[in-house]
Amino acid sequence: MLKVSNLRKRFAGHEGQTVHAVDGVSFNVPQGKLFTLLGPSGCGKTTTLRCIAGLEQAHGGEIAVDNRVVFSHDRNVHIPAHARGIGMVFQSYAIWPHMSVFENVAFPLRVSKQRYSRAEIETRVLAALERVHLGSYAGREATKLSGGQQQRLALARALVHEPKLLLLDEPLSNLDAKLREHMRFELKRLQRDLDITSLYVTHDQVEALALSNQIAVMKDGCIQQIGTPREIYEQPANQFVADFIGSTNFIHGDLQGVSGAEGYGVATELGRVQCATGRIGADTSKVMVSVRPEHVVISSTPPEVAENLYRGQVLNWIFLGESTDFQIRIGNQELRVRSHPDVQFSRGSDIWVHLPPRRCVALALAGEPEPAAGTETAAVTTA
Ligand code: ATP
Repeated sequence: MLKVSNLRKRFAGHEGQTVHAVDGVSFNVPQGKLFTLLGPSGCGKTTTLRCIAGLEQAHGGEIAVDNRVVFSHDRNVHIPAHARGIGMVFQSYAIWPHMSVFENVAFPLRVSKQRYSRAEIETRVLAALERVHLGSYAGREATKLSGGQQQRLALARALVHEPKLLLLDEPLSNLDAKLREHMRFELKRLQRDLDITSLYVTHDQVEALALSNQIAVMKDGCIQQIGTPREIYEQPANQFVADFIGSTNFIHGDLQGVSGAEGYGVATELGRVQCATGRIGADTSKVMVSVRPEHVVISSTPPEVAENLYRGQVLNWIFLGESTDFQIRIGNQELRVRSHPDVQFSRGSDIWVHLPPRRCVALALAGEPEPAAGTETAAVTTA
């Protein structure tokens, strides 16, 4: 539905240097799916979205919406923004305060090049308001809506043209934490009910995991990994992705040989760590093991496991209500562990520590070769 190929956009920086804001970005979004561009500030998410919208002209690549090329550098195609069939919702969703809810949604139709009759405008506006469950608020002043309702109004305004593609740039970031959480569910439900293909931009990893069918993690204008939320979280492609999404423990070591379906053995300070999956280039020797805090298992008696069992000590703990976080030490290596709140150990306790191999991912150290695109060496996929 949306196809972006090798998109490039550069800007002149403050000191005359060239900023490669988008540096060869490619991805596809199938019909009806929500695809998220996720990454830290300045990684090029918004510029990518603005190029797709037609608000920026890219320096290279091609963009097609519903099989129609709307931008092609090589073929000199540049369809203007208003003719791309795209709806947009931005961070500052700019409700017009002096207009009613109805007029806010009607306005894009009234100023449109396409002429709409009064009756047509009314039908379209009421349908758009119904779709976001604001049908009974049509006559209200826009400013008398709650934050969440204003957000839905912005969505209705973006939908009134019946766009083929919806672009959302940090649409929830002006809402307080509780409302943001509620709106995540709302947005997900609306997007699914409306079956509208959507491209979502955020730096909030929880939002991305909650909403997306697929996520592209970006850094310095490039995509680091594309995958489902679970793939991105459980099988990060590199150190950056593992670190950016959630929290993780990194354990440095040397690769002890790759053994196909059995995964990777890594010699670390803890001893040998067996990893079920890995993303490692052919000539890599220095690697690190990434294991999430919630996947580390601690116990007072040794569990019946064949691999990845170590003796450790509790350095500290904090109770967080829905979990207890432990700081533990194995030799000189410190690890964070997130356990069920019922798990209790006092400081200084000697414990058994198990790192389930299927939860351990061997990654190339930054600067070491990573696998060429499409040749990832994930040995075993975790269910
Ligand atoms: P944020 O989450 O902070 O919005 P982002 O990931 O959306 O960040 P972009 O806004 O796309 O990032 O910016 C990517 C890079 O391009 C940054 O280094 C930014 O400073 C630069 N940039 C963006 N727009 C311009 C512009 N109009 N002129 C010069 N540089 C720009």
